[in-house]
Amino acid sequence: MPELPEVEITRRQIEPLLVGRKIRRVETTKPSYFFLTPPALLAKKLVGRRITALERLGKYLIARLDDGSRLLLHLGMTGQLFGSGVSSVRLLSAARRSALAPEAQPAFEPDLHTHLRLYFADRGPVVLFRDVRKFGKCGLLPRDGADERLEKLGVDALSARGEDLFKAAALRKIPIKTLLLDQSVIAGVGNIYADEALFLAGVLPTRPAKRVTLPECKAIVKAAKRVMRRSIATGGSSISDYIQPDGRDGGYQDERRVYAREGEPCRACRTKIRRVVLGGRSTHFCPRCQP
Ligand SMILES: [Zn+2]
Repeated sequence: MPELPEVEITRRQIEPLLVGRKIRRVETTKPSYFFLTPPALLAKKLVGRRITALERLGKYLIARLDDGSRLLLHLGMTGQLFGSGVSSVRLLSAARRSALAPEAQPAFEPDLHTHLRLYFADRGPVVLFRDVRKFGKCGLLPRDGADERLEKLGVDALSARGEDLFKAAALRKIPIKTLLLDQSVIAGVGNIYADEALFLAGVLPTRPAKRVTLPECKAIVKAAKRVMRRSIATGGSSISDYIQPDGRDGGYQDERRVYAREGEPCRACRTKIRRVVLGGRSTHFCPRCQP
């Protein structure tokens, strides 16, 4: 499942293919739960619009349109957003961690999983949104239209501050890790990054949130940003549990300190890393380094 770093990588790659371009034609697959807006209406509203910006909030991508409306995109578990004529398997697999990039290389032919195709007035590259499992989302928010999905998101993880976490932690008995994964507090911190951040900050994931101090909250948020930025810089490969199928990325280094390292020695103190399940999520920590 793509986490914030993979979504941000996708945003950076696709931004030049969207921003400043005017949509000439839109093709979609049939209505399904993939579409938050009925596809026929979506197509009708998008034609003639120019895209002015591509933003990210948590794991959502938001394309701003020149009439004030916004196109909301979510990659779900297997979503791929890319330009036609993409010739690099690596580009796709770096942008997305789903099983495999489209088989047809170098030119990708849209298939039945290609739910959205944007054609532009400049007749340049077509932008495609493909999603095999269809857990992704695509919808149009009218001008000034609120969306409950966005409304309930907290501050984006890359611009969050320790105070944001500390404020939310006050009086809460829930484990600090559970709070860190709460998208309404900080948007975009995934399971791996939460475990890594808590290790770096030296805080036990199961500690009740209200017993985490402000300096510790600051350390947690700082560490979460650090591991996510590092992941973005390395194409999503340095810290995620995804290893590119072709193994071609010579730059790949496994930098995980605790995540999925149960029973292995802590890199700091050699104590065996432990694993528990918190709120249904695998949680890894060093019992010695994280009081
Ligand atoms: Zn340790």
